[in-house]
Parts: sequence; structure tokens; C-alpha cells
Amino acid sequence: MNLAGLLLKKPFYFSAFGAIMKSKFNVKNNMSAFENIIGQLNKAAKIAQIDGHVLDLLQKPQRTVEVNFPVRRDSGKTEIFHGYRVQHNNWRGPYKGGIRFHQEVDIEEIKTLALLMTLKCAVAGIPFGGGKGGVTVNPKKLSSKELERLTRGYTRAIADFIGPKKDVPAPDVYTDARIMAWLADEYSKIVGQKTLAAVTGKPLALGGSAGRDVATALGGAYILDDVLKKTGLAGKKMTVAVQGFGNAGFNIAKFLYERGHKILAVSDSASAIMATKETFDRGLDPKELHECKDRTGSVRGFPGTRNISQKYMLCCCPFDLLVPAALGGLISRDDAKKMSVKIILELANGPLKEGADSVLRERGILVVPDILANAGGVTVSYFEWLQNIKGLHWSEKKVFGELKKIMSKSFNSVWQIKEKYNTDMRTAANILALARLAVAYKKHD
Ligand code: NAD
Repeated sequence: MNLAGLLLKKPFYFSAFGAIMKSKFNVKNNMSAFENIIGQLNKAAKIAQIDGHVLDLLQKPQRTVEVNFPVRRDSGKTEIFHGYRVQHNNWRGPYKGGIRFHQEVDIEEIKTLALLMTLKCAVAGIPFGGGKGGVTVNPKKLSSKELERLTRGYTRAIADFIGPKKDVPAPDVYTDARIMAWLADEYSKIVGQKTLAAVTGKPLALGGSAGRDVATALGGAYILDDVLKKTGLAGKKMTVAVQGFGNAGFNIAKFLYERGHKILAVSDSASAIMATKETFDRGLDPKELHECKDRTGSVRGFPGTRNISQKYMLCCCPFDLLVPAALGGLISRDDAKKMSVKIILELANGPLKEGADSVLRERGILVVPDILANAGGVTVSYFEWLQNIKGLHWSEKKVFGELKKIMSKSFNSVWQIKEKYNTDMRTAANILALARLAVAYKKHD
């Protein structure tokens, strides 16, 4: 059955079952997430006959930095924190990638995310390589002052390795514009001059770009528009579940709601909720949900919803579209066997565990891969870096216009490759990335 056929077949159940979901990007048993991606790249390289040597070189990051640094707690005690910066590849330009503050951050996770950044920048066709950083910390347990000292301490620890032409960090899970401003300020103090282009995702007043805060989600919304057009579904109002309700999750919910799609289920780290019969017809208003999360710390208890388990949201909600926008590795092969969505738009990096992808493909569920779907964030980071370097200020209209051009161009390239090789979108995106990396390698060598 084709995608349009699947979308029209839409049963609905209100029953619930539950299991607590394990929140971890990387599966330590079986194949690691990094190896899983290398496996996917191998498949892509074989299909498109791309030089195997290029792939060999991508199997190891060019540089891995591990740091230990002290942070003074408000109590006066000093604690040592552990952080990373992985510089995966720079054939196409300076390393580029976010910084994650999370208690489960480890070297494997950062390595995997850095590899994804190399591929993503190549798919978007922007002149950056891939990097990623992180600190193993639960930022919710730090005061604002402690968070600032942690950010400044981490910046000092990695300062030798970053810079506008070397490696440019940005926000990721549990890091935001305020944290990027501290990073830019600390870096500028170290090098003795204001260096805005050393980091992106800064507040607008401190050298940030218009539109950066919503860029990941807006880029994803543009890609979904294109997917719906290509699959003959333009104009169809989709029913939607969003996993994770932070920057990417809230903003995609908002853009989809504005397009007339219906948000029917949402989750965050503490809970998952679904529209009741009373709210089902109009769907949930993301702005009101966001106010609830701001006020109470969670989407739980939002009027017109009932609590469901995270598993139920994934496996039993027969909505049209699932948008993973939380951590990686939250969707297992077993979930993939049970879920009844028709399209998955990967705003999160690496949301599928090993094996889930092939099950979804066999079941005819269209997966729009992370390295295409969430490339809007790094694309507007590129615009920010460019504006900082050239001393320019682009309007939001210009940023969104340029973003749309890049997202559509990337989408069309991926779709053409998908058709040419009769393959899935992830393999097509990987072929595009590898082909561009192979060209850059030849120039670099
Ligand atoms: P964020 O910190 O703003 O939000 C993360 C959200 O995920 C929070 O709402 C949190 O409650 C929720 N969450 C955490 N664990 C969860 C779980 N087990 N189940 C459900 N929800 C859970 O982070 P973000 O910037 O929105 O990033 C989300 C994802 O998007 C990440 O995978 C990130 O790598 C990816 N991404 C972000 C950007 C960006 O520009 N921010 C760009 C590209 C990709």
C-alpha cells in the first residue's frame, strides 16, 4: 500500500498500557549507535559505489578531547565535572555542532552525534564539518550561578580547540541562548577580543541571528511540506504526536498547528499526555501547552488531556505523524513493530535504536532522517556565523527565506537520489553526504 493509502486507513483506540521508557541515546549492548550509523553508511557507499577509503576515514573522529574541570558550588564546595568535545571531520569546513548538558552524556554519545553533524552539514551543503560537545551533568540540579560557572569552566577547558575557523559550538539538549552567551563571553576574554563567531545560538542582542531559536523546527516543517507534496498528500491535515517538548518539540508543534495539523499527543521527560474526546477534534494548542510547561515544569495535567505512558504514545497512538524531538535511542525495534504512524520526522538526533529503521521500512512507514529533517538548526547557525564574520544583520524574513531555499534544495537532492536508487530517505541522505564528503576529501588530500 502506498503512503496516501496508509494515511486514509486510520483506526483509533483509547485504551492504555504502559511501561517506563529508558531514556538513553546509546545502547551499550548489541551494536553501538555509532556502529549502527557506520553500517548504514556502508550500505549507502555500496549502492552508490563511493570510494571505500572515504568511509574508512570517517569511522574514527579526527580528534577527541576529554576534560575535567572544577566548578564552585553555591555551598562553597568545589566539584569536578567531566566534559567532551569530539571533532569528527573538517574536510568541508570548521567543525560544527552543539553542546549537550545531560547526566547521561558519555564519549560514545558525543562521538555519534559528531558523526551525524559531519553528515548533516554535508547534506545541507553548508561549509562546515562535524563536531559535538557535552558535559555529564544534570543541569536541573544546578542554580543559575552554578550553571554559568559550569559553562565558563567548560569553555576554558576546551578553549584551545574551538574558534570561528576551527570549531564552532551551538546549543543542544538542555543548553540554550543564555548558555551560548556565557560561552561567547568567556571565549572572548580568553583570546582577548570580542569573538562573536566562536559560537552560534546566541541571544539576538548579543550577536545571535534572527530565527535561530525556531530554526530546527521550521526547517523540519519545510521538509514535511515537501514530503507531503511529493507523496500526494499536500493539503491533508495530519494527526500528530510529538515526543519531547523543548526547543525543537514545542516549535515544531507550533508550526504544524499553524499549518492546520492536529497535535494530539505530547511527551516530556516526566510524562506523556493525549487529547481526550473533548479536545480531539481541535487538537492541543502548543502555546498553551508551553505555558503549562513553563508554569509547572511539565505538560502533565494540561486541561483536556489524559496521562498515557511514553510507550503507549509510541506504540498505540495511530496518528499520521510522529515527531521524535527528545533524546536519541528512545524508539526500539519492538516499538517499530507495533507503531501505527505513517510518517516519522526525526527532529531528534538518532531517535531510532538499531534495527528499528529496517522494521519501519518493511512496514512502509516513511522515515525522514535526522540529517535532513533537523538540519534547519545548523543551517541558521551557519547564517549566524556568516553575519558575525561579515558584520551583517539579516532580518527574520531573509533568514527564513534563505533557510527555505537550503532545506528545499537538500530535500530535492535527497528525493532524487531516493528515486534513482529506489531506496529509503536515510540511505539517500547518506549517499548525498558521502558523495559530497568524497569530493571534499579529494581537494583536502
Ligand atoms: P531541549 O533541551 O530544549 O528539549 C529536550 C526535551 O526532551 C525536553 O522537553 C525534555 O523534557 C524532553 N525529554 C527528555 N527525555 C525525554 C524522554 N525520555 N521522553 C520524552 N521527552 C524527553 O532540547 P532540544 O534542543 O529541543 O533538542 C531535542 C532533540 O533535537 C535532540 O535530540 C537534539 O539533538 C535535537 N536537535 C536540536 C537542535 C537545536 O537546534 N536545538 C538541532 C538539531 C537537532
